[in-house]
Amino acid sequence: MAGAGVGSGVNGSHVTIARAEVVAVGTEMLGPGKTDTNSVFLTRQLEELGIEVHAKSVVADDFRLLERVVAEALARTELVIVTGGLGPTDDDVTRMAVAAALDRPLAVDEGIVAAIKARFERRGYEMPAINRRQGLVIQGAGVLKNVVGTAPGQWLDVDHKVVVLLPGPPRELEPMFLHEVKPRLETRVTGEQVVRREVRLIGPTESHAEERLRPLYAAWRAQVPAVSATILAGRGQIELHLASRSADAAVARRTLEGAVADVEHSFGRDVCSVDGRTLEEVVGGLLRERHLRIALAESCTAGMIAARLTAVPGSSAYVEGGVVAYSNQAKVALLGVPADVIEQHGAVSEPVAVAMAEGARKVLRADVGVGVTGVAGPGGGSEAKPVGTVAVAVAGPGADVVVRTFLFPGTRQHVRMFSTTVALDMVRRALRLPA
Ligand code: ATP
Ligand code: MG
Repeated sequence: MAGAGVGSGVNGSHVTIARAEVVAVGTEMLGPGKTDTNSVFLTRQLEELGIEVHAKSVVADDFRLLERVVAEALARTELVIVTGGLGPTDDDVTRMAVAAALDRPLAVDEGIVAAIKARFERRGYEMPAINRRQGLVIQGAGVLKNVVGTAPGQWLDVDHKVVVLLPGPPRELEPMFLHEVKPRLETRVTGEQVVRREVRLIGPTESHAEERLRPLYAAWRAQVPAVSATILAGRGQIELHLASRSADAAVARRTLEGAVADVEHSFGRDVCSVDGRTLEEVVGGLLRERHLRIALAESCTAGMIAARLTAVPGSSAYVEGGVVAYSNQAKVALLGVPADVIEQHGAVSEPVAVAMAEGARKVLRADVGVGVTGVAGPGGGSEAKPVGTVAVAVAGPGADVVVRTFLFPGTRQHVRMFSTTVALDMVRRALRLPA
């Protein structure tokens, strides 16, 4: 494929692109502080085009390493998108590393440099000399306009494959992808559409769920189009990611509907949502639908349930408030829990959880009250009530009161997290009953 200088980059050969890899460049994303979100955006976009992202990597600002990663990705994939490292500084090595991986020379495009100069001048600055390197273009590349920042992107046809370089900042990458890359890719795709659904299950353990799902997996694999499934478990819930692909998006969607119905049939009330909604969103929806307001009385979770519920926009329509009642004295003073109930049963007990739930409901004049009291650990456990023992009560709507005691494994943070999930799930189940 002759690299005839800087052209459109899209030549006549219509090679289909079915799979892609994303390489995110930046040492900072290897630490805990920064996360690569560009690849999430790109994966969603590529999916819509029917291009499957089958691998991604995060690579340090390291010339030789990046050169190798790009060469390897290109050896196994039709489309490689490299994001980041297009800035003007020495640690921005993407252009050089990709040029080395492709064994192509780089040359300064004076047109790009002039545009960068003009951009600086509009703001009343002179262009620093180091910005010249942002005008370096790999031989044969098509230049992708950056309407937001300085660094242009590059599109490279490489034999029957494509390499795309995009800037790191999402506000630069996103419009560049949508305006410059997507239209070019649309001409190259297989035409298959990928449709996805996310089902959340709460109640069964991961292995129980897996057992019940196994026959479904087999049936889904056998049908046309097939349905693929990925299971993710954690924090007391299970996410089932379902996907189907077909040339006809409507066919893929219908197929997925069938798979979702299979899961609902098999898991019944353990299905929290079939549209990706979180537990707190589902609970909020149920409260809103039934015009009910909720109040929390939290001991060992100390506001974490209130935080989850109020993380949902619009939650003021159904969250009345919450009380953090950590000490016995707080439970008595703020919620009206009878001191003798605490004395008789202990602070971590079902009668206290019920009194907390009812107290919150009464004090805050809500329709539903939730009480949570437990031993989060690592200290404070006893033989009768080991670390991880948590009592959860839901009072309302109406005269209904439900209380359960759990024994959670794991660290203090795990016990507290699990407690919020089971409490919200008990509310979900209470609200699903006919009024
Ligand atoms: P610049 O000209 O701003 O230096 P660049 O193309 O060199 O652009 P980077 O230096 O790699 O990009 O990244 C700039 C900033 O963009 C990073 O500090 C980070 O905040 C953000 N960023 C980079 N890569 C990603 C990514 N994969 N996901 C999310 N944000 C990213
Ligand atoms: Mg940079």
